[in-house]
Amino acid sequence: MGKFYGGSFQAIQEYFQQKFCRFCSHPFTSDGIELLREEPGILVVRVGCSVCGRPLGVAIVGTGPAPAPDRTKAALDWTKRDRERLSGKPTITYDDVLDAHQFFDGLGADWAKHLPRQGRASGH
Ligand SMILES: [Zn+2]
Repeated sequence: MGKFYGGSFQAIQEYFQQKFCRFCSHPFTSDGIELLREEPGILVVRVGCSVCGRPLGVAIVGTGPAPAPDRTKAALDWTKRDRERLSGKPTITYDDVLDAHQFFDGLGADWAKHLPRQGRASGH
């Protein structure tokens, strides 16, 4: 149905609020869902349980058509790969989040620097 396409962070929150923490079995709440970064075509969100505090992981969610791939660099290959993987799916899945978590673990704590930088500052 593609209801996430053209969707928003709010749609992602609503999606995860239908999911349950695998540690304490409480549903996730909007408090535990944090927007880490917004890029053209993707949102990066961190999901955790606000009841027991356990993290679920980081999800990369496609929000629309992927930008033209002509400025893709080797260093950004994972982003392209993830975007392509997500672009073929109508919705994100629980497994996607776990996959992404594994992936970010592999990158290490400074993974954010691998994200493409845009002219727009996201601010802190
Ligand atoms: Zn929990």
